[in-house]
Amino acid sequence: MDVHCSACGEPWDSWHILNDAIYDTALTRPECAAWNRTPRQKQLAPHYRTVFRDAGYEFGHTLMHVIHCPACPPTAKAGDEPTTLKHAIEDILGDDLDAIAATFNDHHL
Ligand SMILES: [Zn+2]
Repeated sequence: MDVHCSACGEPWDSWHILNDAIYDTALTRPECAAWNRTPRQKQLAPHYRTVFRDAGYEFGHTLMHVIHCPACPPTAKAGDEPTTLKHAIEDILGDDLDAIAATFNDHHL
């Protein structure tokens, strides 16, 4: 299932985000493998958010909420309303990433 970047609308396969996007970062392959074994709740710890941001990714509360992505044009900015809605959906659905992605799609977010 795809999730869409809030800033540019680029579709991202959720499997890619959950498993391969980390390899787009400056982390070494062993560090990426360690990240893949890290519990989902800790995969967006401040260190990892910085690493992802340096690679062009910015996430909301979960990896399903792509606020900025490497495909974003330099001036792309996430809209306030979709971002607020996505945060609310994440707050309601917690760690259920499949439900979050499905709900985003149901509401064309
Ligand atoms: Zn984007």
